[in-house]
Amino acid sequence: MKVPFLDLQAATNELRSELDEAYRRFMDSGWYILGEEVEAFESEYAEYCESEHCVGVGTGLDALTLALRAIDVGPGDEVIVPTNTYIATWLAVTQVGATIVPVEPDEQTYNINPTLIQSALTKKTKAIMPVNLYGQPFDYDAVTSIANDAGVKVVVDNAQGQGARYKGRRVGGIANIECHSFYPSKNLGAYGEAGAVTTRDPQIAERVRVLRNYGSKIRYHNDECGTNSRIDALQAAFLRVKLRHLDQWNARRKELARSYGMGLLKISQLQLPVVPEWADPVWHLFVIRLPHRNKLQERLTQRGIQTIIHYPIPPHLSKAYEALGYKRGDFPIAECLTDEVLSLPVGPHADPAHPNVVVTAIVDCLP
Ligand SMILES: *Cc1c(COP(=O)(O)O)cnc(C)c1O
Repeated sequence: MKVPFLDLQAATNELRSELDEAYRRFMDSGWYILGEEVEAFESEYAEYCESEHCVGVGTGLDALTLALRAIDVGPGDEVIVPTNTYIATWLAVTQVGATIVPVEPDEQTYNINPTLIQSALTKKTKAIMPVNLYGQPFDYDAVTSIANDAGVKVVVDNAQGQGARYKGRRVGGIANIECHSFYPSKNLGAYGEAGAVTTRDPQIAERVRVLRNYGSKIRYHNDECGTNSRIDALQAAFLRVKLRHLDQWNARRKELARSYGMGLLKISQLQLPVVPEWADPVWHLFVIRLPHRNKLQERLTQRGIQTIIHYPIPPHLSKAYEALGYKRGDFPIAECLTDEVLSLPVGPHADPAHPNVVVTAIVDCLP
């Protein structure tokens, strides 16, 4: 039995008639940039996130970059980011010309460690940028209280956490600004590039709205040097369809995670995901950790089970950031994770037999 990492074709098949309907409505509207579909998606997604405002943008990276610009982060400012994240979080900071201040994760949850944030703050800190990594919320209360005391903003990278809850509240509606990616493989995925910023602050929302549209509020009146990063209206129409199914699809991911958890519990070589009691994750990824990760991955591949390493190189050791002068040993927790993590197949369209197949294969393949 082949086990794919994620089956996007099956997702499309399940929603075929609704997606076709959205496509036809969009084509017949005669309006292809911003407009009704975008406004409808923005208001539906803001409501879903239990937030006030949503501004749709071109990509998740643009959401992060425009969020930083909207609060005037730029050259000379420092932004605290996790060492353990996808490189996009870091790129947003360097794109606005600010300085990256990396902070190591908690060893249990792999999310940013609030205690270490405290000691990374300086007079130049302008924002803290935590990530809901693998679909699991970071400790919002701990980070927010540090940020409030320091008078800095919290800009969340929620590319992986659509639908997750923290102490009962929906992520996306908790911090000052939260940024979302709708890259096709995310929990809420489009059929192309798309992203969004959510916030309760009307001024921040308005600023992002202007920045995404050439810095213009009134046509041909340009108040600042913005960019062109409007969410694609066809993607907005597709995302409206998918949003209606998100909770149900996240519930299926949760079921898979539960099966993995129970099946793998007794294997002492593996470290399973740790979920704090305040977290209700959406399992964008199910990440296990073990010393001989590469060997296990190779053997699973031979059996037709697809796994992925998120991520093989931490941002500070990637060639892109050579100029920052970091070396191996600077952030040992993130470095150790890149050597030991393995993401198992998890998606809303996995065959119910998959967890069993994967668990059995892992038991067989381990030394
Ligand atoms: C996917 C992702 C992004 C970037 O999103 P794009 O839509 O691809 O630009 C940013 N941060 C994290 C953690 C991601 O997983």
